[in-house]
Amino acid sequence: MIRFVDLPAQYKSIKPEIDRAVLGVLKDCRFILGPRVESFEKKFAKFCGVKHAIGVASGLEALRLPLLALGLGPQDEVIVPASTFIATAIAVSHAGAKLVLADCDRGTGNLDPEAFRRAITPRTKAVIPVHLAGQPANMGAIMKIASERGIPVLEDAAQAAGASYGGKPCGSIGLAGAFSFYPGKNLGAYGDGGAITTDDDELAARLRRLRDYGSDVKYVHVEKGWNARLDALQAAVLEVKLKRLPKWNAVRARHAKRYRELLAGVGDVSFQAPEPRAEHIYHLFCVETTRRDELAAHLKKRGVESVIHYPIPVHLQKAYADLGLEAGSFPNAERRSDRTLSLPMFPELTDAQLRGVAKAVQEFYR
Ligand SMILES: *Cc1c(COP(=O)(O)O)cnc(C)c1O
Repeated sequence: MIRFVDLPAQYKSIKPEIDRAVLGVLKDCRFILGPRVESFEKKFAKFCGVKHAIGVASGLEALRLPLLALGLGPQDEVIVPASTFIATAIAVSHAGAKLVLADCDRGTGNLDPEAFRRAITPRTKAVIPVHLAGQPANMGAIMKIASERGIPVLEDAAQAAGASYGGKPCGSIGLAGAFSFYPGKNLGAYGDGGAITTDDDELAARLRRLRDYGSDVKYVHVEKGWNARLDALQAAVLEVKLKRLPKWNAVRARHAKRYRELLAGVGDVSFQAPEPRAEHIYHLFCVETTRRDELAAHLKKRGVESVIHYPIPVHLQKAYADLGLEAGSFPNAERRSDRTLSLPMFPELTDAQLRGVAKAVQEFYR
C-alpha cells in the first residue's frame, strides 16, 4: 500500500534525535512553555524572516488570537476564501467577527484578488489569504489592495512553512502569519501545535499574553486571555524537524516535478496552476479531473491512498448554513471541491512508489 503521508517512515529517519529530544523533556519535566518553546520560537522566527514567533496550541489558535488582538466586534467583517480548511472560517467566527467569503482563483485555488476586492465594505477589518497546498496566494495583488484600504492581512500559512512569495517567506508578508503543526503538515509535531509570526513588537507581546491567560508575569493577569500554549514536547520535536525542513521541502518539489512529468497529458488530468513569483513547497500535490471520485476509487483498489482537499467548500458546510449561501455562490471553490484530488506526497516517498501512483492513474484513464 502507498500511504498518503507516511509518518512512521519519517520518524524512522530521525529516530535517535527525536528520542533524545523527547527524553530531555521527560527528564526535566518542564512541559508548558519554558526554554524549549522559546528556543523553537527563536529558530522558527528566523526561518520565517520575522522578529517574533509565538508558539500556540494549534493552527486554529494561530488564526484566532491575532483576530482577537485586532479587537473585532460582531459588525466587523473578515474576508476568507471559500475554498479552505474550515479552521480559517471558524477562527473568524470564534473571534466574534462576521465571516465574509470570497471565491478562489480557478487555476491556483487561492483567494482571487478581484473577488477579495469586490467583497470589501466599509466594515472590512481583515483578510485571510490561505497559501493552499503550500503554494503562496497572489500576495502582490492582495497586499496592494489591502494596503490601499488599510486592511490588515493575516496569512493562513498552515500548509506553507518554508514557502515564499517574491523571495519573502510566507508568514512575513502580512501583519502576521498563522502556522499549524498538525502531524500531517509539512512541519508536523507529535500532537497539536501552531505558531504566529509577526514583525510587530506590540502585537507579539499581546499575543504572548492572550495565549497564556492574559498574563506576562505568573498570576498577574492584565486581560482575560486563553489557554492556547504550545507545549515543550511539541517544541522539542519541532526543533529537530525544522532543521530538516528546507531539505524536505526541496524533495517535495522534486516529487511534484516527477508527478507532472509522469502525468502530463494523461486523461483530463490537470495541475494546480503556478502562481508567478511564488515558491511552492508542495505540502500537497493536487490534480484536477472531472472523474475525481472514480479515480479515487480506482486508486484505492490499487492500494494507493488519496485525499480530497476539501470535499465541501465553507459556504456549503452545515456548520455555516447560517450564511444562507446556496450552491452556485462561489463557482470556482465548488468546482475545486468536485474535481481536485491530492496524491501521496511526503519527502520519504520513493521514486518506485511515485511511479506506482502515476501508473495507477495512467491505468485508470486507459
Ligand atoms: C491545518 C489547517 C489549519 C488548522 O490547523 P490545526 O492545527 O488543525 O488547528 C488552518 N488552516 C489551514 C489552511 C489548514 O490546512
